[in-house]
Amino acid sequence: MPLLDVNAIALLHTLLTTNSLSRLSTLCASLQAPIEHILSIVAAHPFVFARLRAIDTPGDDRIAVVLDLTNCTFYARPPNGCTKDNACPYLHLCPSVVLPNRRCQRPHDCPLSHSLDTEHNRRVIIERGLENLPQKTLIMLILASADPSKTFAVCHHKPKPCREPNCDDLHLCYFYMCSPHLCKYGDCKAGHSLATQRNIDYLERRGLAHVEPLDIIALFRIVDENKKHSHIYRYPLEQQHPAQPMMIMTLMMDEHGQHQQQPMIMF
Ligand SMILES: [Zn+2]
Ligand SMILES: [Zn+2]
Ligand SMILES: [Zn+2]
Ligand SMILES: [Zn+2]
Repeated sequence: MPLLDVNAIALLHTLLTTNSLSRLSTLCASLQAPIEHILSIVAAHPFVFARLRAIDTPGDDRIAVVLDLTNCTFYARPPNGCTKDNACPYLHLCPSVVLPNRRCQRPHDCPLSHSLDTEHNRRVIIERGLENLPQKTLIMLILASADPSKTFAVCHHKPKPCREPNCDDLHLCYFYMCSPHLCKYGDCKAGHSLATQRNIDYLERRGLAHVEPLDIIALFRIVDENKKHSHIYRYPLEQQHPAQPMMIMTLMMDEHGQHQQQPMIMF
């Protein structure tokens, strides 16, 4: 059954044109709809949209896309690719059609799929309830999910702290992000603060500079969960939240996170 109706699709599409984040006032103007209409769509789809309270202009909250449609990182990996077959909840696409600035090495005889219209990809899209998305919106969602400037990705670099000069993800302790009580390290190298200079710069760049910090952390947590558990994202948040740190370690090893720069694709 489709996850989104026509109004929610319109909101999703509009947000995907503005790097997955927009002010309520801007959305009202774009969609020519009252605030209440937009807020009711957001409230009805907690695993598609998130509302972030503004701290600059009261009432002009931000709306972000938390829905994610990630490509399988094992699919193109030698020697065997993804071995999960039907159990894999991620798209199986040649990285060149998803990742920014990536050219296919074998454009005329690529063994990897360049199409969404395969049995595997059709199944993933239907399982996610996204079968009624217009092709253009679907492609924008896939590209946004793979692009750090259009999604909300927390850095999974190990060991901590990440010193990658090109890392374009938020630097925050994964355990702290899941719940402030989960990290037991008093001097955690992964960091518990959004107010470091690097994160201040990042949030400014990402359009999140004037937003309630707790809402920012919740935003990244939901997107992270959607990236890892895309096939079960419809369950309540509590059920996705592993209560045991041991389980979180398992999830961290099952990462499908990616790091890209600029999208440039045709399907
Ligand atoms: Zn796979
Ligand atoms: Zn290819
Ligand atoms: Zn990093
Ligand atoms: Zn920590």
